[in-house]
Amino acid sequence: MTRPILLAVDDDVSVLEAVVQDLRRQYGEVYRVIRAAGGQAALDTLTQLKMRQEAVSLMISDQRMPGMTGVEFLQRAREIYPDARRVLLTAYADTEAAIRAINSARIHYYLNKPWDPPEEKLYPVIGDLLDDWKAGFRPPFEGLRVIGHRWSLKDHRVRIFLSSNHVPYRWFDVAANPEGLQMLNERQIGADQVPVVLFPDGTALTNAEPDALATRVGLRIQATQEFYDMVVVGAGPAGLAAAVYGASEGLHTLVIEPVAPGGQAGSSSRIENYLGFPAGVTGADLGRRAHTQASRFGAEFVTQRATGLRIDGQYRFIQVADGREVSSHVVLLAPGVQYRKLGVPGAERLTGRGIYYGAALAEAASCADEEVYIVGGANSAGQVALHFAKYACKVTILVRGEGLSETMSKYLIDEIAHTSNIVVEACTEVLEAIGEERLECLRLSGPAGEVVIPASSLFVFIGAAPGTEWLPECILRDEKGFLLAGPDLRSRGELPEIWREQRDPFLLESSVPGVFVAGDVRHGSVKRVASAVGEGSIAVQFAHQYLAGF
Ligand SMILES: Cc1cc2nc3c(=O)[nH]c(=O)nc-3n(C[C@H](O)[C@H](O)[C@H](O)COP(=O)(O)OP(=O)(O)OC[C@H]3O[C@@H](n4cnc5c(N)ncnc54)[C@H](O)[C@@H]3O)c2cc1C
Repeated sequence: MTRPILLAVDDDVSVLEAVVQDLRRQYGEVYRVIRAAGGQAALDTLTQLKMRQEAVSLMISDQRMPGMTGVEFLQRAREIYPDARRVLLTAYADTEAAIRAINSARIHYYLNKPWDPPEEKLYPVIGDLLDDWKAGFRPPFEGLRVIGHRWSLKDHRVRIFLSSNHVPYRWFDVAANPEGLQMLNERQIGADQVPVVLFPDGTALTNAEPDALATRVGLRIQATQEFYDMVVVGAGPAGLAAAVYGASEGLHTLVIEPVAPGGQAGSSSRIENYLGFPAGVTGADLGRRAHTQASRFGAEFVTQRATGLRIDGQYRFIQVADGREVSSHVVLLAPGVQYRKLGVPGAERLTGRGIYYGAALAEAASCADEEVYIVGGANSAGQVALHFAKYACKVTILVRGEGLSETMSKYLIDEIAHTSNIVVEACTEVLEAIGEERLECLRLSGPAGEVVIPASSLFVFIGAAPGTEWLPECILRDEKGFLLAGPDLRSRGELPEIWREQRDPFLLESSVPGVFVAGDVRHGSVKRVASAVGEGSIAVQFAHQYLAGF
């Protein structure tokens, strides 16, 4: 593959030359730096590059140019290279216009001129943006190929596993794509052995399951030590924050997480309200950054699901799905919540065959030019609807209430109202999912009575419940399964009998000393990325206080 491109645009020759030189000096080995002397010339160049299937990673443009402003150029350039990072160069006087452009032209960053010294003012910003771009960039295909059935649950699990672990793959539906069948025939693999994963080294995994795949794609499934100061269960925002603070403050930390770090936030297409990201941040990006940060401080990650917790004196043992155990003094439980199931006839049988929970990012491309249905009226449903609107020809949001205003943030409602292929059906409930091998129809009750409509994909976002059944009874929880911690352990002012310590439980400590709880899984928690991050960070302080007692 040729080197991806950084495009600099300015009518002022000396500024353009300075940008190009600074970019070449730092990024010249990995990227090609090219220039254009104005907006129109740059758009022409981008069009030609697009035709040659070249990758453009970043465009940096001056705001004040005759003919076309930098904002106008970046706005139009986004239509040609939507994933390239967009940076506006401004004078101080234009700062307000630049901030407005973050929304209107979806600019990723604005830089004030001059940017000297580049080591402080240019490279950290550009480096960060290029990391983001690289994380989402799919080079001309060299990765895994997955051959399977679109409507098979096994196939769906493999695709979810790969996409949630950010492993690039290309998917071939045997029923719709003759190339898939041809690849199987060439390797003399029967169509009954799908899903089949083909690796770049020419080998194949038939009847692929996530566990077998994890080892093949190089994910670590076994901890390197038997004992850690702190074991964190779940690498969502809460677990990742605990890993960053714990590891950076010297705690030998292990994080257990069955998919790629990021948690529920990882499935959210764009988090717009997390502090410090004025242009929003995708959940996957946030997870990847936090994972890198925690790893840099020495936290270790294993791709496993925690299946049990055992207490033995001052040791806590976490069991994982393959039967192994790790021990520690402190455990932080941050497994978040799982999507609530749609309890209507047909829904369970058709899960993964047209009915999906939290699988939006992996399934979006398969729904290209189709009509998709989304159930739910909260922010998660709104974000997913906007994401699908980029692929599907029509997105219908089904809500039980009279509209979205009670349940969804205003910024999402506004965006939905401005998206022409999203329709909101209020006062509507799903009564039944109908289909033999895959979802074919939905029976709905709406303002006009009961109707049966054809539907092939239904994405369910009707809230979430904690998946805490794997924990022992000594970890107390409320009637819905959310874990009790700190003051919430008291009932009518009394601590539970199970609590034998002379001291009160720390703020985020569960009914078992040294086992802490953070994030969405905690009874009474605020279901937000920021609060999960806050709790994960605070829990580490209490872990220190607990460990000080040893
Ligand atoms: C679609 C969507 C959009 C959202 N948008 C926003 C938004 O814009 N702004 C905002 O502030 N909040 C948003 N939220 C809410 C936010 O994502 C959550 O509040 C936040 O992710 C909670 O963090 P957490 O770490 O507690 O749990 P989670 O993010 O749920 O992470 C828990 C992690 O634990 C792992 N896990 C579960 N069980 C186990 C086990 N047994 N063993 C090991 N690991 C396990 C899971 O795989 C998961 O990765 C959104 C949520 C959704 C679903």
